[in-house]
Amino acid sequence: MLPVSDAEATILNLVKPLDHQRDTEIVDLLAADSRILATPVTSPLDFPHWDNSAMDGYAVRYEDVQHSSEEKPTVLSIVEEIPAGYQPKSTIQAGQAARIFTGAVMPKGADTVVIQERTRQEDNRVFILTTPKLQDFVRHKASFYQAGTPLLPAGIRLNAPEIAVLAAAQCPQLNVYRRPRVAIFSTGNELVTPEKPLQPGQIVDSNQYALAALVRESGAEPLILGIVKDEPIALQEVIVHAIANADIVLSSGGVSVGDYDYVDKILESLEAKIHIRAVEMRPGKPLTVATFPTCTDAINRVYTKHSTLYFGLPGNPAAVLVTFWRFVQPVIKKLAGIAEGWEPVFLKVRSHDELRSDGKRETYIWGRLNLTDGVYEFYKAGGSHSSGNLINLAQTNALAVLPVGKTLISAGDEVQVLQIINA
Ligand code: AMP
Ligand code: MG
Repeated sequence: MLPVSDAEATILNLVKPLDHQRDTEIVDLLAADSRILATPVTSPLDFPHWDNSAMDGYAVRYEDVQHSSEEKPTVLSIVEEIPAGYQPKSTIQAGQAARIFTGAVMPKGADTVVIQERTRQEDNRVFILTTPKLQDFVRHKASFYQAGTPLLPAGIRLNAPEIAVLAAAQCPQLNVYRRPRVAIFSTGNELVTPEKPLQPGQIVDSNQYALAALVRESGAEPLILGIVKDEPIALQEVIVHAIANADIVLSSGGVSVGDYDYVDKILESLEAKIHIRAVEMRPGKPLTVATFPTCTDAINRVYTKHSTLYFGLPGNPAAVLVTFWRFVQPVIKKLAGIAEGWEPVFLKVRSHDELRSDGKRETYIWGRLNLTDGVYEFYKAGGSHSSGNLINLAQTNALAVLPVGKTLISAGDEVQVLQIINA
């Protein structure tokens, strides 16, 4: 049984990010949010595009106004009015000023803006009642960004701020990584789809729905392959199809040591390399992680065009969620081309409740991070924490982690928490 941190290192080492030339597509800016930029972006525009005024006021020559005060105002004649979006015509000469508004282009000759609150206008003359600093309230061309220099690097996720920058930089289309494809199927003779009436002994295949949602939330595209019976031939067929068509395969169930747990045997027969069979965690102990040869015709079959990572997740619904958040989500992010920040984030917070484990395996306890007086506290979900229970997982947003050897965290003590939902 592998410690969780070793399992994490092994798994993340197996991930080869998508290729920045082959695995990309062009998208319109309006459809680019949450996508991962594949090519660095530069802009041919300077920011600001021209010297412009940061305030409503008067564009002046500093030389003219450097000894102004309420008692001894400088009087300048107004030669032009410059609203935003207008190209100034005049060059400001000695003794002259232009009325100017926020964002408007600075006229030639002027180097400083005096805000209107420190002036008094009479007809076409302005009285400057203060001595500004040289270049006050002028936003200089290219002072925010210089044309042709790096604007955004590859490997970042495009959120609203980046979309705003790209729009301003006139980049209507972008080269982004394609979404990773994740095949999902469930195994088990007892499973049925949610709309079917249940016969004795049957349960609904909730894992497929959970995994499809998790995959989408992580920025990948689910390929849903349905329910597969605990039958070796049917399982082999779906596994071969999945590895040929996806970057990652997620199956749930059938990886334990029961008589009907065939997944590992089939993976072996398909010449997969099995890197992990069990992890020292609760829930989530039976966890298979395997890779397939890049290209093989061992039994006259090409399995896959690229290396596919196979996760045989346990069947228990809680274990599926926990192992996905702990191992699969970082894998999807790394594969998707995200350059930094795909590792899971752990926070240290106070536990509102007592937390217990048998200390034998790293234990994940689901609950909520709640804000109390501006400080996060972990609240354990009420109800059963059996890995067979999924009901009290609803409305949780965090997993408290008790390391191996730790049997008790008392109420009020600090605990490490994996934040699983950004809410
Ligand atoms: P297994 O890992 O196949 O032995 O399954 C472990 C437990 O999880 C059993 O109680 C299964 O009935 C349950 N289970 C397996 N697959 C699913 C699924 N897709 N949805 C909900 N529960 C499942
Ligand atoms: Mg099963």
